[in-house]
Amino acid sequence: MDKIVIKGSRRVTGNGIKEADLLIKDEKIERIAPSVKTPPGAREIKADGLYTMPGIIDPHVHFELPAYNSSSEDDFYTGSRSAAAGGVTTFLDFAIPSEDQTMLERIKEKSESAAGKSIIDFSFHAQLTNFNDNKLKEMEEVAGYGIKSFKIFMPATEGWGVDDAGIYRALEKSTELESLVLVHAENGELADFFTESLKKSGRVSVKDYPSSRPAFIEKEAVLRATLLASEAGAPIYICHLSSAKGMKELRRLKKEGNIIYVETCPQYLILTDELLKKRNGYLYACCPPVRKDADNYELWRGIFENDIDTIGTDHCPFSKAKKSAQANDFTKIPMGLPGVENSLPVFYSEGVVKRDIEITKLVNLMSTNPARIHGLYPQKGSLKEGTDADIVIFNPRKKVKIKTRKLHSKCDWSPYENFKTKGSPEYTISRGAVVYEKGEFRGKKGRGKFLKRKPSPFYSSQ
Ligand SMILES: [Zn+2]
Repeated sequence: MDKIVIKGSRRVTGNGIKEADLLIKDEKIERIAPSVKTPPGAREIKADGLYTMPGIIDPHVHFELPAYNSSSEDDFYTGSRSAAAGGVTTFLDFAIPSEDQTMLERIKEKSESAAGKSIIDFSFHAQLTNFNDNKLKEMEEVAGYGIKSFKIFMPATEGWGVDDAGIYRALEKSTELESLVLVHAENGELADFFTESLKKSGRVSVKDYPSSRPAFIEKEAVLRATLLASEAGAPIYICHLSSAKGMKELRRLKKEGNIIYVETCPQYLILTDELLKKRNGYLYACCPPVRKDADNYELWRGIFENDIDTIGTDHCPFSKAKKSAQANDFTKIPMGLPGVENSLPVFYSEGVVKRDIEITKLVNLMSTNPARIHGLYPQKGSLKEGTDADIVIFNPRKKVKIKTRKLHSKCDWSPYENFKTKGSPEYTISRGAVVYEKGEFRGKKGRGKFLKRKPSPFYSSQ
């Protein structure tokens, strides 16, 4: 079916809501008008009372991530299937090179794997590891290939970490390449110190885990990353912000004029460390850890006051068996949660329904901002004529009780099990193809495309 007309919906963009019909033809949005006649042979989707929004862009997922002598649960097929069922039409994964690989080699390898399996479009962030002079050359190759973002794991003492000199040099180089540096902001020396202290006193159960990575180690890293970025004249993107302490600093630093993009995840807005005290608390171990009510509250405030820019999920699930095998030692539990399929309905329920956040803001946080910041706008994230027909048709009234067995991930549990949501994606359309429809997955394996990206708008606005 190469033509679809969406009739009678309310079109939501970051700027407002307006009733409109949409004509989709050959993967693109051909026309948006108050009334569009359905051409012969076209499929008509009646969408009265529903919202039509640009497809959700998840800027932070880990599919096929080798870790803990195993791999994250979802491959590019099951991961993208789960994403599509949650209204997601583009994901950004992380290409983390092995010791004997360059960053570009890893990007190509992951990209080939995804091209054969993914239902929806995708791109990657390059992970900077084992920083040395050669990496600066490699950054040129990567940017030249259309990957304009480099992720740095700040805890330099842990496997993938980069020290301050490396971070500073990468930031300097990123400006030359019109690229963006993303950081996992935590202080590794302090994390090591607290972890060792807990080990010495035999406190390694999962309820002790948050004490090994207290919020102030995120705050310290956020401050340091922003300082290094401003001295290097570069923008910076903070991944998965988890704490009130970090949020308060970022609010102030943004007001002072630093160019900082802040991402948080549904788990840091909604879940707390109380879950870690439960019998199955080991399931909820992720890094950084889920924290307190007061942290949730401050992050919601960040959303109200526009100090948070994007919502990612950090989808990185491990099965119950893999997690429970290490249940008694947090230093060994595979870290990460599933979530790519739940972020839209959960954020809609908790944000728009419960906290009165405008749906236009949801669209900005979950689609338009990630598209802009990561160089995909306006093809993605805009819902304009002439752009890719990546669309979610959303039913704001539909109530769902989340059940793992109904989700499309390979993971056998969900942190949102039995969570009641109001508002649910009814159709997901990826470049003109309906890939999900009313509970049924309809996507074709391997139809997703690798996306080369433009520089972040920071560079074009200079
Ligand atoms: Zn991550």
